[in-house]
Amino acid sequence: MARIGFVGLGNMGGPMARNLAKAGHEVAVFDIVPDLVARCVAAGATGAASAAEAARGAEVAITMLPAGQHVRDAWLGAGGMAAASPPGAVLVDCSTIDVATAREVAAGCGRPFLDAPVSGGVMGAEGGTLTFMVGGPDDAFSAAEGILKQMGRAAIHCGAAGAGQAAKACNNMVLAATMVATCEAFVLAERLGLTHQALFDVMSKSSGQSWSLTSYCPVPGPVPGSPANRDYQPGFAAALMLKDLGLAAAAAGQTGTATPVGAQALALYRAFVENGGGGADFSGIIAMLRAGGNAG
Ligand code: NAD
Repeated sequence: MARIGFVGLGNMGGPMARNLAKAGHEVAVFDIVPDLVARCVAAGATGAASAAEAARGAEVAITMLPAGQHVRDAWLGAGGMAAASPPGAVLVDCSTIDVATAREVAAGCGRPFLDAPVSGGVMGAEGGTLTFMVGGPDDAFSAAEGILKQMGRAAIHCGAAGAGQAAKACNNMVLAATMVATCEAFVLAERLGLTHQALFDVMSKSSGQSWSLTSYCPVPGPVPGSPANRDYQPGFAAALMLKDLGLAAAAAGQTGTATPVGAQALALYRAFVENGGGGADFSGIIAMLRAGGNAG
């Protein structure tokens, strides 16, 4: 069993840290919200007074924070986790942040550091079924893989520092685009007098098939577990999809890459969030499309 420091105990980090404690690890946890620390302590973790204290003595130190600035501050700021953790520790950030900041933090730590963003959402964090997309050195990946797999079912080593964030940005750009296209198809089908089930039955066996359709269908009925069956609550919040599309757009800008469909998806999700949809599941954008919103 390992000594693990875990910082950032929100919707994702809380259940991830609790799963590590339940697996028998010695987990020292910190969040700026004391109640979140208390929930993890009740599940067997030990409360730490700061991020640095959580990292002190840890064999594996992990962050799960909102954005790049939080990650930079936690690792590199005064009294940061990089300085506090022992020299042999494996340093892992599971937050979703921009590629450039992930590389900067990895370089700033001055020793093996992994960017390991996740897909799978809150249900995946709670159920220990996340997928980790990992960037960083081979030996650090090998050292962390077992721990990551206790919080998820897959850990994919994507390449050097930043590669995990790059994979996440590309994946979620495609996810947003296929969701918008799938929503558009259902709305068009409604106007053409086609039932949702008929379109689903055809597309799920045809070239219009995608995860957005067969695992996360944006209309109620065909996929009983999808958020559409629960009035788009809860799920993967549209505000988080907008954040991820912004990270993809930043990466596209930095690399001079044309991503016109990704840019259009970003504009649509921005309009949806600005009109109050930020807390809804991202498939809820079908309501805006049905109402004629096109942001274009
Ligand atoms: P959240 O806001 O629920 O949790 C973030 C936590 O970080 C909060 O509890 C906050 O108090 C804490 N925090 C902020 N600054 C801190 C500091 N300086 N020291 C210690 N703790 C601090 O967010 P979340 O939904 O858990 O998401 C975390 C990350 O995971 C984000 O980068 C997000 O993009 C990514 N993510 C989220 C989901 C999802 O479905 N929620 C899915 C995949 C990836």
